[in-house]
Amino acid sequence: RKADIECQVVVLGSGPGGYTAAFRAADLGQNTVLIERYAALGGVCLNVGCIPSKALLHAARVIDEAAHASDIGITFSAPKIDLDKLRQSKDKVVAQMVGGLGGMAKQRKVTVVQGTGRFISPHEIEVETKGGKKLVRFENAIIAAGSQAVKLPGFPWDDPRMMDSTDALDLADIPKTLLVVGGGIIGLEMACVYDALGSEVTVVELLDQLMPGTDPDLVRPLQQRLSKRYAGIHLKVKVAKIEAQKNGLKATFEGEKAPDPQVYDRVLVAIGRSANGNKIGADKAGVNVTERGFIPVDRQMRTNVPHIFAIGDLVGQPMLAHKATHEGKVAAEVAAGQKSEFVARVVPSVAYTDPEIAWVGLTETEAKKQGIAYGIGKFPHAASGRAVGIGRTEGFTKLIFDEATHRVIGAGIVAPNAGDLIAEIALAIEMGCEAADIGLTIHPHPTLSESVGMAAEVYEGTITDLY
Ligand code: FAD
Repeated sequence: RKADIECQVVVLGSGPGGYTAAFRAADLGQNTVLIERYAALGGVCLNVGCIPSKALLHAARVIDEAAHASDIGITFSAPKIDLDKLRQSKDKVVAQMVGGLGGMAKQRKVTVVQGTGRFISPHEIEVETKGGKKLVRFENAIIAAGSQAVKLPGFPWDDPRMMDSTDALDLADIPKTLLVVGGGIIGLEMACVYDALGSEVTVVELLDQLMPGTDPDLVRPLQQRLSKRYAGIHLKVKVAKIEAQKNGLKATFEGEKAPDPQVYDRVLVAIGRSANGNKIGADKAGVNVTERGFIPVDRQMRTNVPHIFAIGDLVGQPMLAHKATHEGKVAAEVAAGQKSEFVARVVPSVAYTDPEIAWVGLTETEAKKQGIAYGIGKFPHAASGRAVGIGRTEGFTKLIFDEATHRVIGAGIVAPNAGDLIAEIALAIEMGCEAADIGLTIHPHPTLSESVGMAAEVYEGTITDLY
């Protein structure tokens, strides 16, 4: 059968991994095709993930700061929320970013094919487009088909009051009561938004802390803040049943400290994401996929089939956009004949809650598990002039050092802009910085970034009292 399109590189999926890979491949002179099932490029991140959620979290922060302004003698009246306008402004942000991608694809002469693609052989993908099937024959393929929200079976998913993160970002209304199932990053970010908009939020988490896997001391300041604001935060509790009733969704809980059954206006389920590796006909190309939909790759992002690469959420944790983009570049470069490898030492993680929680490298728990002798330099933000000035002293900056080398191996920051602050430590870890390198670096005053230098000095013993 004659191919409709022949190319050197085909990229399946246009999320941050996919579009980065396609653009890099095209920049390296490869004749590139990008296949995306939706009309909008950008994947989860741009359309229903990072970008819209941060646009809404910005609104939440404005509401919250205005509410607290009376502490410094400025009183605003209660916020009036025009939900349609808020939704439109979020959609505008997304449209701007997505439109930018379309332009960049055109500029590079990347051929975008809209439709659902499946491998039918090691060198062919069939795309189901609106106008019928199209056959794309390729030399190299980069799989970037991403992930999707896990939908717990047995819940009444056909009820419009049940939401996954995509539905929650739609902002259909501001429910009076909202149950968030899952206390991970996505659940808590959306909880932050709805709480600021005026919903009464309850969070239920199966494990024994919010944001499981994160060092408990990082989570504590957030949990303290949220417990004052939310109707309930229930740990080690399972949602056993959700029943659709006329007056709401009735949730029944299990566990030692399970609350009584309760009816909520809406329920958001955010219990994780599953990889899309099993939905693309990978077997027809001979590509190995795990039972859970992940595709194993080597450091060059190659699957077991040497001319087929995989990147992003579907190659494993952490499922983050910035990891996907870096992997995308590597895959495109290797496909174009370069010797690139994905050798990042660390990938930073951020919960854009209020306060933000950011961490990078090893956590204390991981360092202990790996038997590494480590030391801590911790700087409480109560000792930062800037934090006092903005009334946000609840957080801290914590650096983790290898005792043998004094090199920084990990860090955690809790602060309103922790996500921005953590980047410096990612660089420090990549560069193999020692505590003295960080402590001797002059940070601008008065900023929260000073807390990074100070934490290193605390570890070195060159600051003993926190003036
Ligand atoms: P995806 O973005 O999942 O894109 C995959 C694309 O492939 C999709 O467009 C899909 O339609 C397409 N596709 C799949 N199968 C096919 C097929 N057969 N044919 C054609 N097209 C196909 N990460 C961060 O780093 N920071 C954040 O702040 C952040 N916030 C998030 C908030 C939410 C609510 C969610 C849900 C996620 C968030 N993430 C965040 C995670 C981030 O969105 C993902 O890590 C990132 O999008 C993964 O990129 P990807 O390229 O692997 O795939």
